[in-house]
Amino acid sequence: MSHRICENIKQIEQEVENVHLVVVSKYRSLPELEEVYACGHRNFGENRVQETLDKYEKLPKDINWHIIGHLQTNKVKYIAPFVHLIHSVDSLKLLQTIDKEAQKNNRIIPFLFQLHIAQEETKFGLSAEELEDILQSDDFKTLENVKSQGLMGMASLTDSAYQIKKEFNSLLMLYTKHKALYNWDTLSMGMSSDYKLAVECGSTMIRVGSKVFQ
Ligand SMILES: *Cc1c(COP(=O)(O)O)cnc(C)c1O
Repeated sequence: MSHRICENIKQIEQEVENVHLVVVSKYRSLPELEEVYACGHRNFGENRVQETLDKYEKLPKDINWHIIGHLQTNKVKYIAPFVHLIHSVDSLKLLQTIDKEAQKNNRIIPFLFQLHIAQEETKFGLSAEELEDILQSDDFKTLENVKSQGLMGMASLTDSAYQIKKEFNSLLMLYTKHKALYNWDTLSMGMSSDYKLAVECGSTMIRVGSKVFQ
């Protein structure tokens, strides 16, 4: 076993003091995840439900599983018993399904609203207006088995630090606006290529994959 994964994790954690690190383990093998676990790390990020289930069944039960990818309503029931934080809530319908499944499991599921902040058309997420609509809706206010913790967003894939910061700052503004009222504590932004910029812009949680496993 190489110690490269451990060293990478330690290096990233030193660079971003007091910011939570989610190691993005999607597409990575069980031995690689076991290596992350052996370093003492417990927060893993996955984007596919079936892959998350397979890994959940085979790995120790004290791992915190974060769902960071687009989630289909018909898949929510599989992760509802154990998911730690869903980063990718992008519709009221999805949220209502999560609430229903959380209720069946007699638990409260924490989640983040995913905002669309990038220029690319392809990335999922709510617009600022759609977020306001959900927050102000009676349907949202009646949900009892979900707890909003904050916001998640992905910046454009660009070399322009100016553009990336502009996008992260737009997310920070929305987060700051609602933080006190909803008692939020999580602003999930930053990946391998841009987590340093994200932390400069107020990120409290970074999701890093390739830089850990490289
Ligand atoms: C894959 C992924 C990441 C990690 O990306 P890296 O560039 O490998 O660090 C972070 N967030 C989301 C939503 C992802 O899908």
